[in-house]
Amino acid sequence: MHYLDHAATTAVLPEAADIAYRAMTEQFGNPSSVHKMGIEASGMMETARRQVAALLNAEPSEITFTSCGTEATNTAIYGACRRKGRGKHIITTAIEHSATLNTVKQLEREGFDVTYLQPDESGHIAISDVRGAIRPDTVLLTCMLANNEVGTLLPVREIGKLLKKQAPDAYFHIDAVQGLARVPIRPRQWNADFISVSGHKIGAPKGVGALYIRKGVHIAPLMAGGGQERGMRPGTEAVPNIAAFGEACRVRQGQMEQNYTKVEELCKQLKEGVARRFPWAIYNGMNDIPHVVNISFPDCKSEVLLRVLEMHQVYVSSGSACARGKASHVLAAMKLDHSRIDSALRISFAPSNTPEDVEALLDALDEGTKRLKRAFG
Ligand code: PLP
Repeated sequence: MHYLDHAATTAVLPEAADIAYRAMTEQFGNPSSVHKMGIEASGMMETARRQVAALLNAEPSEITFTSCGTEATNTAIYGACRRKGRGKHIITTAIEHSATLNTVKQLEREGFDVTYLQPDESGHIAISDVRGAIRPDTVLLTCMLANNEVGTLLPVREIGKLLKKQAPDAYFHIDAVQGLARVPIRPRQWNADFISVSGHKIGAPKGVGALYIRKGVHIAPLMAGGGQERGMRPGTEAVPNIAAFGEACRVRQGQMEQNYTKVEELCKQLKEGVARRFPWAIYNGMNDIPHVVNISFPDCKSEVLLRVLEMHQVYVSSGSACARGKASHVLAAMKLDHSRIDSALRISFAPSNTPEDVEALLDALDEGTKRLKRAFG
C-alpha cells in the first residue's frame, strides 16, 4: 500500500495508539471525578496539554481541547465576531478550508461584511492586499498558515504585524492545521490571538483538535454545559484522543527537522520523476512546504486517474478531500482553467513515506496517464 494522501489524514502513530488504548482500558476515569481514577485521567489530559503547548510554543493554559480542527476554528471565529461592541468587518482569503469559509459565510448572512482576499496564480496572498483590506471596523482577520491543496504558506508574521498596527483591537486567527509539526508555530511573533490545530493530520486519531487562545483573550464558548476546559469546551473530555494527540505532538516535535528533510527529499524525487516521465505535466501553486504537491496531468481527468492509481494501491487525492466531488475552490481562486482543475492531483507526504512509495506512484501514473490519453486524449 502506498498512501500519499496525508493532508487528508494520517495513520495513528504507535505511541499515540498505545496511550489511547491505555486511556480506554485502564485509566478510563472521568477527569472531573475527584477519586484516584479521575485524578489519573485528569493527569493524562494535563500531560497532553503541556505536549501540545510545547509544539505550539504556547503556555498550557492557552490550549483548549476540541473535537477537531473545524470546531477549533468555529469557536475562534464565532467567539471573536460575536463579542459585543466590536466591528462588523471580517477579512479572510478565498483559499481557506471550508471550516473557515462556511463559518464566515454564516456570519455574512447574519450581517457581517466580509473581504475575501484573492490569491495570485501561484496561490500566494499579497501583503499589499492585506494592508488595503484592513478597516477601522475590522473585527477579525482569519487565514491559514499552510494551504491544504497546494502547500503555499501565507505570510502570517507580516499579516499579524500589519493587523495589530492598523487595527489594534481586531482579532487574528490562524488555521494552522496543515502547518503543525511541519513548520514552527510562533503565536507571539505572529501576534496571533487564536490558532487552530488538529490531531489526525499528525498521527493522532480523528476526533481531536485544539484551539490556542492567547492569554488575556476572552470569548464565549460555542456550547453550554459543564465547566470542562475552563468552560470553553463543555462536555466530558475525549481523554484517549487527547492523550494520543499530546503523545503525537511529543513524538513529532522531537523529529521535526529530520522529518522535514526526509519529506523534502521525497518531494525532490517526485519532481525529478515527473520532469523525466511527464514533462507535459503542470504544477499548480508554488508548494512552499514539501508535504503537499499539486500537479495537473492535462487530458487525464483526476477522478478517473485516481481510480487507476487505486488499482495499484496508490492513494492520492483529487483537489481537497473535504470537498469531495466538487471542483476545487482553491484552484478556481487561482484562476486556473477548467481542464487544469479537472486534471489536478494532490500528493501529500508524511515522514513515514519511502522512496518506494514515490516510485510506485510514478509507475502507476505512467500506466494511468497512457491509458487515459489513449482513451480521451
Ligand atoms: N483546516 C485545514 C487547512 C484542513 O486541511 C482541515 C482538514 O482537512 C481542517 C481545517 C479541518 O480539520 P478537521 O478535519 O480536524 O476538522
